[in-house]
Amino acid sequence: MADEFVMDLEENEKDVIKFKNTKLRPIWEPMGNKECNVPCCNVQLSNFDKYIKHWSEVHVETITVYACIVCTERFGKRERAMQHASVVHRKERDDNNIKIIEVNNYKYKNDYGTLPYRKGSPLERKSIYEREKKKAQEERKLLKRKIEKHRGFN
Ligand SMILES: [Zn+2]
Ligand SMILES: [Zn+2]
Repeated sequence: MADEFVMDLEENEKDVIKFKNTKLRPIWEPMGNKECNVPCCNVQLSNFDKYIKHWSEVHVETITVYACIVCTERFGKRERAMQHASVVHRKERDDNNIKIIEVNNYKYKNDYGTLPYRKGSPLERKSIYEREKKKAQEERKLLKRKIEKHRGFN
């Protein structure tokens, strides 16, 4: 069933984190470009969490699924697999009754070596915020001056 392969994001987000929080990764700017930075992906994303979710759904080659050790049925979420084992087979709700397997991600889209955005440290985010605030202030000042200048000619 298709909906059983809804991914366990907490698990699969680790795949994005494998990219380590290196400074080489660009910082996701909340007021900046909201498109996925993978070439030709063009997916619009409104916040960093959605971006990470998108990345872990689309730009990772393999995903983790959870199989029942009794009947080998597979689930996208660890919780669902444990629930199944306990309800159907009367097993304990624990990791010993499920098997973690890596399968190919059928939604996979190559990332062409793109480094995913990172959230940035609070300090980095603050400095981006300050910079954008200053920019907006400058723009307002400029506009005000333009209007005043324009009035001056009347
Ligand atoms: Zn993308
Ligand atoms: Zn089973």
